[in-house]
Amino acid sequence: MPSTAKNPLKPFNHVESAAVEAAVRRAQTGQSIPIGPDPALHRDKGTELHWVEAVLRHRLSLRSLNRPIGIRTTHDGVHPLIEDGQHFPAVALSVPFAEGTLDFIAAYDGGRLVFDLLAPCDRCQQPVPTEEINGLEDLGDFLLQARDALGGSPRLRTSPAHNTDCPSLGD
Ligand SMILES: [Zn+2]
Repeated sequence: MPSTAKNPLKPFNHVESAAVEAAVRRAQTGQSIPIGPDPALHRDKGTELHWVEAVLRHRLSLRSLNRPIGIRTTHDGVHPLIEDGQHFPAVALSVPFAEGTLDFIAAYDGGRLVFDLLAPCDRCQQPVPTEEINGLEDLGDFLLQARDALGGSPRLRTSPAHNTDCPSLGD
């Protein structure tokens, strides 16, 4: 059994509580919250950054929580939007949570936009894509530190954020 929370006495905030609840429900029933298709990208409705933020809000069902959640969305200076890409940066999103911000990177895996949680690399301490989080249940699993079963982000080993001599690269 992995150690549960960093501070077991600290109550979860409303987003974290909803995430943990969703993760427990998925573990018990095998069912995720049905959220429907991602919002469409409209050329005349804001920018790509707004769209990526809307997709994250949708995937995490943030609207259903009925409270405003401010997300800071910028282009990422390190990661590419597509694997081996050079010209377009990934999108970085910072979501405020009880223990500080959670930092996400949005990039394409095949044709699908996926979100990775950034956390310090075990070996070089640089912030790298650590876990793929595409739903409230995934976030709940992460908060419960039950992520071992999910195996981490496929982009952990290729992230250009590692120090160049980091043994995690291509591991
Ligand atoms: Zn590293």
